[in-house]
Amino acid sequence: MKRGAMVPLVSYVDGEYVGDHLGGPGTHDRENPADVAEVVSTARWADPAIAEHAVASARAASSSWQATPAPVRGDVLRRCADLLEQRTAAIAQDMAREQGKTVPEAAGEVGRSVAILRYFAAQTLAPDGSSYPSHQAGTRLFSRRIPVGVVSAITPWNFPLAIPVWKIAPALAYGNTVVWKPSEVVPLTSTALLAAFIDAGLPGGVLHMLLGGGAGLGPALYDVDAVTFTGSTSVGREVVLPAAVASGAQVQLELGGKNVAVVLADADLDLAVAQVARGAFLSAGQKCTATSLVLAQESIRAELAARLSAWAAAAVVGDPRASATEIGPLATAAQLERYESFLDPAAHGGTVIAGGRGPAGGHFARPAVICDADPHSRASRDEIFAPIAVLEPVADLSDALRRANETHFGLTASIFTSELAAAYRFIDEIETGIVKVNQESAGLEFHVPFGGIKDSGYGPAEQGLAAQEFYTRSKTVYLTHAG
Ligand code: NAD
Repeated sequence: MKRGAMVPLVSYVDGEYVGDHLGGPGTHDRENPADVAEVVSTARWADPAIAEHAVASARAASSSWQATPAPVRGDVLRRCADLLEQRTAAIAQDMAREQGKTVPEAAGEVGRSVAILRYFAAQTLAPDGSSYPSHQAGTRLFSRRIPVGVVSAITPWNFPLAIPVWKIAPALAYGNTVVWKPSEVVPLTSTALLAAFIDAGLPGGVLHMLLGGGAGLGPALYDVDAVTFTGSTSVGREVVLPAAVASGAQVQLELGGKNVAVVLADADLDLAVAQVARGAFLSAGQKCTATSLVLAQESIRAELAARLSAWAAAAVVGDPRASATEIGPLATAAQLERYESFLDPAAHGGTVIAGGRGPAGGHFARPAVICDADPHSRASRDEIFAPIAVLEPVADLSDALRRANETHFGLTASIFTSELAAAYRFIDEIETGIVKVNQESAGLEFHVPFGGIKDSGYGPAEQGLAAQEFYTRSKTVYLTHAG
């Protein structure tokens, strides 16, 4: 018997929460991943008619939002940031209950979202074009960045606040209207973010939220000017990309990763263990930037494995709202099944030296270390997205680079070394969008470009000044004085 059935959360279209009057799609319960007997929220999922209405309304609101002075748009983002900041404690508790990350991780995500909103609010005061000398007398020649129009944003569950914010904030700041489809796993956190935008005074029609799974929304979501998607490589590449291209929308995909940490024999091992463990295990490994494959130089391989497994064995896995907890549950039952499937010997061909199911009652997984995995195995090749570090030995830096660049993903990578030459070579030769030296592969700053290559991404990078490239187009103006 589930506890806690409640009034359904609903989509938000054209300045109104959408009740039954636009059709009656079903409701879906979201369980607490730490206590599966508790229902955290019930959501009424949108349907194709609601999606069409949202896109049409976003289109209708586009010209007035574009005509709103950019600094005034920035004021709305700033107010939204202030409201989120004031609501941090409540949002963090709900996010922990809904998504499973610990309360400090959730509060950190709220803080990051606040910072991103303030950053893009400030961007509304930044230069929005360039001026050029003209070959023609009496002519002013300049280019301006103008909004793209209507943007669809499709987001995953692992950073249920920060990822939507790093798409919605620049989209709005640069003058676009937005149809947002959050993950069906996190309707409560999504509704909290929407409420902050509404309370900040965002006009109706500028931002719409469609609750539910993306597959049931029909083609309207792609009948826009730009589509930004973060999620799995399969949905991004096989569903979103072809649909967006067919409708002529520009596309940005941020996808999965198989992020490598290389630990050379000359590394500071204390630092490497601490950083690799953080990168692989915190947030239960459910970060696109999580460390998944650890390439250890032969002479330190055994010690690194032993120390990582000691870290894993000591980690406190449990209720994300308990103060001692370091690692909360996986977000869904499917995630726990996925985790367990990677610990099956057939999936790795090596030795599991730490890991296994955590406490009963929720989707708990202990941080796991797999040693001497077969480089051709699923565990060594695929994205895992759970707290598992797969270790493979490498002979030297050249061998590590060869092995790391074999992966078809290219999001982040890190190297642990005290040799400057090795660090430079790794920076130059690793095939990823982000590279770190003596730092975990996760844990990125919000004001610099973020994006992967190969199967980890498609289109322009996100965040920082890179966002302007995706959320605006260029218009070049030749202005000659008549008479
Ligand atoms: P997912 O691909 O299952 O879902 C992502 C979004 O797409 C959700 O909103 C989902 O409802 C929607 N969706 C699913 N099927 C759809 C369909 N047929 N049509 C339209 N929309 C559809 O991914 P997820 O499980 O939510 O998130 C985990 C994945 O996201 C991992 O692969 C992870 O690496 C990736 N991720 C990448 C980044 C990055 O920036 N590179 C960041 C976070 C997560």
